[in-house]
Amino acid sequence: MHEPALFPPTIQQSLRQLPVIGEQRDITYYALHARSVLNGPGTTGMGFWSINPYTGCAFGCAYCYARYAHRYVMERAASAQHLADATQQDVARIPPWLAFERHILVKRNAAAALARVLRHGSERHAALAQGEGIVIGTATDPYQPAERRFRITRGILEVLAEHAGLSIVIITKSPLVTRDVDVLARIARRSSLAVHLSLITLDRALARRVEPRAPTPESRLRAVTRLRQAGVNVGVNCMPVLPGITDDPRALEALVQRVADAGAVHLGCCSLRLQHEARKRYLPFIAREFPHLAERYERAYANGHSLSQHYRAGLEAYVTRLCRKYGVQFRRYGGESSDSESSSISTEPSASARVAEQLALAL
Ligand code: SF4
Repeated sequence: MHEPALFPPTIQQSLRQLPVIGEQRDITYYALHARSVLNGPGTTGMGFWSINPYTGCAFGCAYCYARYAHRYVMERAASAQHLADATQQDVARIPPWLAFERHILVKRNAAAALARVLRHGSERHAALAQGEGIVIGTATDPYQPAERRFRITRGILEVLAEHAGLSIVIITKSPLVTRDVDVLARIARRSSLAVHLSLITLDRALARRVEPRAPTPESRLRAVTRLRQAGVNVGVNCMPVLPGITDDPRALEALVQRVADAGAVHLGCCSLRLQHEARKRYLPFIAREFPHLAERYERAYANGHSLSQHYRAGLEAYVTRLCRKYGVQFRRYGGESSDSESSSISTEPSASARVAEQLALAL
């Protein structure tokens, strides 16, 4: 899962037209002219720069928090009459949460806009060359199906490969990232680069329910192996851990073990956060798909967007110890590595039931 990204005002300012540039099954692609694709920490509230080559994401994860940015762009375009009548009718036909998955905005000028802002000698270039991080894929997946056709992410990577001393992280659920191992290798020769594959479960059927159009868990693990074999620094984001659904201790242990076997260098993990827009979509999803959990979710998220400190600390300690057991570096949410011994939670199979009880009670 990607960390919350606020809607970049540069897009607001640069909205012109949204011409339809392609269709694929039930997905429509619109061209979006973005004045800038590099969104600063001051704009997004995150401690790094972010790039999202697309707005909207066809993978359609039930827990996705990024839907509101897409809604904002489409409503702005419609109210400014930048959409043709037929397109407006089409857009209005489906609810905003679904439009996020079906109306994908393609930032066709992204590479050119990035090259302009990163020109050698610019202030921005100097700051980034001194180690300020860039994360690609904070609010939409940069290797969603659109990328196979439009290659916007690849264009962005080509621009980044021309610069040295950058610190770049790519977050994706898609094995399509392996298409770009050549350019990733070029970037890694001159800059720091890590690819984070997101994976919350090994259970294919469960993944299909929660992340309906995302690539299968096995294909993501194969991508981890291919990237590692190509010399890319690759890790796995087990985010978000869904309480009562993907937090079974034995399942988490199996996941960490498979991730280690696949060759991941590091693993990050944190539990589900439910901010306003995500809550509106996710809680009805739970009521429909996991009705036995509905009441507990309502209670657990009644007073905030995070679970209790007790749950979060227990989860982190448990996964930290699993990582140590299987030889993967644990990365705390936000990027720090951790070797904490702070918990008494054991990873031994005989203790799994107790861990399950602790996590379940916390929910
Ligand atoms: S892949 Fe990421 S951006 Fe796309 S729907 Fe899933 S959580 Fe949202």
